[in-house]
Amino acid sequence: MGNRVIVVGAGPAGIFSGIYAAKEGAEVLILEKNEEIGKKLRITGGGRCNFTNSGDVTDHRRATVHNSKFMIPALMHLSPQKTMDFFIERGLEIIIEEDGSVFPKTNKSQDVIRLLQKELMELKIPVSLNHEVEELMMEESRVAGVRLKDGRNLNADRVILTTGGASYPKTGSDGKSFLMIEKAGHSIVSLKPALTSFEIKDQWIRGYPGVSFGDVKVKIGKGKKAFQERGSLLITHYGISGPPIIKLSSRINERDFHQEELTLRIDFFPDKSNEEIRTWLINLEGSGRQLKTLLKEYWPIRFLEGFLEELKIDGQQPMNHLKKEDRNRLIEGFKQLPLSIKGLRPLRESMVTAGGVNVKEVNPGRLESKLIKNLYFAGEVLDVDAITGGYNLQIAFSTGALAGKSAGEGGDSHD
Ligand SMILES: Cc1cc2nc3c(=O)[nH]c(=O)nc-3n(C[C@H](O)[C@H](O)[C@H](O)COP(=O)(O)OP(=O)(O)OC[C@H]3O[C@@H](n4cnc5c(N)ncnc54)[C@H](O)[C@@H]3O)c2cc1C
Repeated sequence: MGNRVIVVGAGPAGIFSGIYAAKEGAEVLILEKNEEIGKKLRITGGGRCNFTNSGDVTDHRRATVHNSKFMIPALMHLSPQKTMDFFIERGLEIIIEEDGSVFPKTNKSQDVIRLLQKELMELKIPVSLNHEVEELMMEESRVAGVRLKDGRNLNADRVILTTGGASYPKTGSDGKSFLMIEKAGHSIVSLKPALTSFEIKDQWIRGYPGVSFGDVKVKIGKGKKAFQERGSLLITHYGISGPPIIKLSSRINERDFHQEELTLRIDFFPDKSNEEIRTWLINLEGSGRQLKTLLKEYWPIRFLEGFLEELKIDGQQPMNHLKKEDRNRLIEGFKQLPLSIKGLRPLRESMVTAGGVNVKEVNPGRLESKLIKNLYFAGEVLDVDAITGGYNLQIAFSTGALAGKSAGEGGDSHD
């Protein structure tokens, strides 16, 4: 008996689902509502496509913010190493950066997409573009196919949903599919922005958009519950951004910003202790130069003026008159400038969507629905997300490969 598998969505998860289902001998059809495959994939990594991370499965688990345990079978099935091998064996040259981020050597996401397109062609997997799925066709508690927006019904033995999250809706993943999934009976964990910038309440800092710092440490919380990251920081008209902020956003997106006061602390000199800064300032005191004139050698003058004003320190005072309280406040400002977090940028602007199909309703070993027979899920549509570094695309590839294999080989975990 044939096994017709319909994959909904031609992002990285959908493409890998199709490939792995076809390898099991299934007759596969991929449906994509866009006019091209991998529209979001194209803009990943700033167009360079950080498609995985060279860390091992444990590293990938650690980088996964929500439901990392659920990810184990998928990551074991298609490990980061196997993913790199997949691309290398098909001719993609790669570069691995210091933090393990893996990119095509050409720094062009288009080369990754082209390779995937070629693989689909070689495996003779048809992709129907401009075909939007609007509803799942059900026969009792089993999925029997999909209904397209144009009203046509397509029968299938198995359906894999890889419709993505709700971030960057212009790429096709606009969150509409969650309504269809809910209608079919699954619960959706509420969608939240992940990997995005912070909106900051402190108005003064928003007055310096475009000012950046090459290497700072940012921290939220205290003790064991603290989260901290390091890297470059950018001030924007709404607050702050930059790689460490984006990473931190995934750790705090479940907080209720209306109810809770959350403070971010910035350490502008992460390699210097308070005492080292104190000694440095004391040594400068002999110079007799103005505090502001001295510090502007290290910081943008515009920002410096606002910073000193915020700390209530007179920037005009000569160094040899610097009061002890001012010196202490300055050190405090350099080492842990507090900023009050208003919230995160909206979901549509976030790189990743946290939340999605409740993983309690999905069998992690097969990625098959526990509620609806013959229905599978892969990629960002699931309530799984990770920090930056290539981990989210690995989630898409690994879950895609496992869902594809499970659907492709047939069988039924419900029977
Ligand atoms: C700006 C940006 C940069 C990023 N950079 C990186 C990076 O460098 N590294 C990394 O690991 N991750 C990165 N990500 C995250 C990564 O792109 C996603 O996690 C990944 O694309 C998810 O893959 P997916 O296949 O699950 O979903 P998607 O890539 O969103 O694909 C879903 C597909 O389903 C289609 N679809 C949706 N609904 C329907 C329907 N009803 N019918 C038919 N088709 C439908 C959509 O059109 C879309 O093509 C980035 C994200 C953004 C926005």
